[in-house]
Amino acid sequence: MTARIIDGKAFAATLREKVATHAAAFAARAGRPAGLAVVLVGEDAASAVYVRSKGKATHAAGMAGFEHRLSADVSQDELIALVEALNADPAVDGILVQLPLPAHLDTDAVLLAIDPDKDVDGFHPVNAGRLATGLPGMVPCTPYGCLLLLRDVLGDLSGKDAVVIGRSTIVGKPMAALLTAESCTVTLAHSRTKDLMGHVGRADIVVAAVGRANFVKGEWLKPGATVIDVGINRTADGLVGDVDYAGALSVAGAITPVPGGVGPMTIACLLRNTLVAAHRRAGLPFDDATL
Ligand code: NAP
Repeated sequence: MTARIIDGKAFAATLREKVATHAAAFAARAGRPAGLAVVLVGEDAASAVYVRSKGKATHAAGMAGFEHRLSADVSQDELIALVEALNADPAVDGILVQLPLPAHLDTDAVLLAIDPDKDVDGFHPVNAGRLATGLPGMVPCTPYGCLLLLRDVLGDLSGKDAVVIGRSTIVGKPMAALLTAESCTVTLAHSRTKDLMGHVGRADIVVAAVGRANFVKGEWLKPGATVIDVGINRTADGLVGDVDYAGALSVAGAITPVPGGVGPMTIACLLRNTLVAAHRRAGLPFDDATL
């Protein structure tokens, strides 16, 4: 058996087209485009690349992009003042502060300052609470992208056994909450988990968000399992995921490649979240299920 390769790049391109169609309809109804503000502090090269590609994708989707670049030595008060100004700006529907922030800044305090209804990254504790309790909120982009891929491959996820490896606030925990809401039976594994191989071997769905190259071995998997590899690891062989892709190909039913799997979904879901925020703020109806 050779696994179906889940083409996240193609799926994300289609999602971005749908977002653009809805964004044009929003602009016509609201009399203004949906707007996304991105804040970059300092000169981190990787962050600058992410911010540039987010800006390009925002414009390509027919939304307004507002980029704010602050010097690496900006004070906590100045950064929070900018976030508060963006909270109050009616043209801004979504606010994203690119992480990591320089060490002298208090990341938690900065994220807490973002209006939860404009928190398109979904990192604010209010949005984590909404997700945990089933209220409408902002869902973190990467796990939401994983969910869209899983629904596309498997259809109804109800009753599936799922293992999420990694319990970070940005990927693992919200992923587990999303799969729980889909009526999966979810095991959230981490570095203290006993018998990880045993858990993985019983799972219909494996989401790996560990940050270790080729960590999950093909022989751990249940034959036919659907594998979502969130990991992005730079190695001498280039970018690789958290799953031993070559080993998993002959066991899994479907698997995301790295690159070209989960990665492209993250920006597409950021645009989707901005559109959702814009509709809610404008009091316009929007059927989340369409995107
Ligand atoms: P993180 O905050 O470093 O969390 C890693 C998690 O893996 C932790 O919960 C840790 O457990 C767990 N872990 C570490 N070693 C383990 C082991 N031996 N067995 C089981 N679990 C273990 O990482 P993250 O931010 O969630 O990111 C994970 C990966 O996804 C990274 O490669 C990152 O680059 C990638 N990522 C990709 C995207 C994308 O757009 N595609 C977005 C975000 C992240 P403990 O909690 O016990 O320490």
